[in-house]
Amino acid sequence: MLYRAFMRLCVFCGSKVGSRAEFTEAARLLGTELAKRRIGLVYGGASVGVMGVLANAVLEGEGEAIGVIPHGVFDLEVAHTGLSELHVVKSMHARKALMTEKSDAFLALPGGLGTFDELFEALTWKQIGLHDKPIGLLDVASYFSDLLRMIQRAETEGFLDGAPIAITDPSVDRVLRTLLPEARHPLEK
Ligand code: AMP
Repeated sequence: MLYRAFMRLCVFCGSKVGSRAEFTEAARLLGTELAKRRIGLVYGGASVGVMGVLANAVLEGEGEAIGVIPHGVFDLEVAHTGLSELHVVKSMHARKALMTEKSDAFLALPGGLGTFDELFEALTWKQIGLHDKPIGLLDVASYFSDLLRMIQRAETEGFLDGAPIAITDPSVDRVLRTLLPEARHPLEK
């Protein structure tokens, strides 16, 4: 690591690579851009799936990648061994709390139930005022369209006054500019 990141993004994403090359391509691009913009990555700490592709791209760009993994829940063998920091914490709850504390914004990429769980917890915690950090979706291949439809349904049926999602967009650049406007693109003055 050549610098200390001054802003950090917490990313939730699949422990599998998924069926489309676009998913891992987007993760690679996001990792490269985080390193270029001096934005640190906070994530689940695994070396597998979309998570591993993302962390490797950050590290290849000499960026900061911080993993937070709960002891005894996931197979520690899949923990990434080359990270800037790897925190092994006592519980899933401690993990989410540390990931929240260390980050300035949240972003979900395509993933499965673990990704949904983390995304919805970030949204719920924001809704009840436990944090006030922006939350976005990197909507690769319209992956989140059905989930957004369900959220819309909850609104229509009177269960929700709008989910606190700052941006849903397939563009890494637009997502980063919206979630972390203080972090400048390296070509900008
Ligand atoms: P999933 O979308 O079900 O693949 O779960 C991915 C999310 O859950 C990630 O953002 C991680 O924080 C967490 N997760 C799932 N599997 C692992 C693993 N083997 N190691 C660390 N974190 C994991």
